[in-house]
Amino acid sequence: MTVQVSAEAVPVGGVEEPRRLSVLGSTGSIGCSTLDIVGHHPDRFEIVSLVGNSNIGLLAEQARRFNAEVAVTADPDRYGELKDALEGSGVEVAAGPQAVVEAAVRPTSQVMAAVVGAAGLEPTLAAVRNGTTVALANKECLVCAGELFMDEVDRSAATLVPVDSEHNAIFQVLDTRNTDQIERIILTASGGPFRTWTREQIANASLDDALNHPNWSMGRKITIDSATMMNKGLELIEAFHLFPASLDQLEVLVHPQSVIHSMVEYRDGSVLAQLGTPDMRTPISYALAWPGRISTPSPRLRLEEVAELNFERVDDIRFPSVSLCREALKTGKNAPTILNAANEVAVAEFLSKRLSFLDIVRVVEETLSDANRTGLQCELRSIDDVFQSDEYGRRRAKEIADGLRP
Ligand code: NAD
Ligand code: MG
Repeated sequence: MTVQVSAEAVPVGGVEEPRRLSVLGSTGSIGCSTLDIVGHHPDRFEIVSLVGNSNIGLLAEQARRFNAEVAVTADPDRYGELKDALEGSGVEVAAGPQAVVEAAVRPTSQVMAAVVGAAGLEPTLAAVRNGTTVALANKECLVCAGELFMDEVDRSAATLVPVDSEHNAIFQVLDTRNTDQIERIILTASGGPFRTWTREQIANASLDDALNHPNWSMGRKITIDSATMMNKGLELIEAFHLFPASLDQLEVLVHPQSVIHSMVEYRDGSVLAQLGTPDMRTPISYALAWPGRISTPSPRLRLEEVAELNFERVDDIRFPSVSLCREALKTGKNAPTILNAANEVAVAEFLSKRLSFLDIVRVVEETLSDANRTGLQCELRSIDDVFQSDEYGRRRAKEIADGLRP
């Protein structure tokens, strides 16, 4: 599978018509950074749909500021609140999962898919099926629906542009004429807040410790995923589906400064890397302007100030999640779907202080081995199978988490 490159894509430039953009997950970290870029280029983008969940105040404020066609909350009970907040604005208002899907398929030039978790699969898939350009931040879509998702991209001739900084970096340095000459793809990882902690220290990590990411400011779920390094495992699965590389060709390298966002090594020994400060507005702007480039307010990289770039291998003892994801990908079938679902549940339990930090990955491991034992690992033939496996993974992970609670 490869990232689709559409021949018709026109660079964002002075003479181009404004691009019509919908943002799924507009009130989140990626959503806000996306609108920040749009705010710096008001002539280049028109906002179509804005989709959020519970932060109605922010959603309404964004809809007014960017004069959105429609604002949608995924929560049907919040329709009235959103309607009141947008009274007199001329912005259409809708609520509920079906309205989210409808918002995703309004005519656009591009859709930013930035909902968190498998909850984003349905609207993101709807945008893909609509044949539009999808800037994909919502990595869980590819983790839980992998091949099926990419088949839909092929079938609908949609264009997928990765937003995740590592995948965006790889996308930028991918020599599309020579993809058969790729030897390795190296995903870099910051190592998260516990990179230098002992296993004993990690065992006692508090919620605040885990939320204290050294380099990136992100939503809560991905911040916890970075602390367990599950994020890098999910990204390994994401890269496997996006790029023409086998699992053996995909490597993870810890790089605490987060300056090199990933690398591709070719058969002639050349290693191509994309560098920058850790600011998501750079990969977001590349995804929005692709195949052109636009300016961003991101801090500039001054290597002389960074002074040192360090690299180390992942410690599989303290961070077993990366190899767990590798194994799930090897197992194939619905194993990555179950892994993703279990991880979402375990992270939510940890965020609610109902699970200890080390038990996050333990819940994922046990949910997967349980599915193995009971023969619940089955082929994914349709998106319905994905939803069923996701539901199974959630139910079983919750039971396991409940059993572990002190
Ligand atoms: P976030 O929690 O800050 O934002 C999530 C957004 O999704 C919010 O707007 C929320 O309202 C919306 N949402 C939640 N549940 C929803 C539902 N059921 N239906 C519709 N909308 C819903 O998350 P984030 O950090 O912005 O991450 C979004 C995605 O981007 C994740 O998949 C994450 O892995 C990926 N990503 C994020 C970063 C980052 O820097 N934040 C970097 C790379 C990749
Ligand atoms: Mg990333």
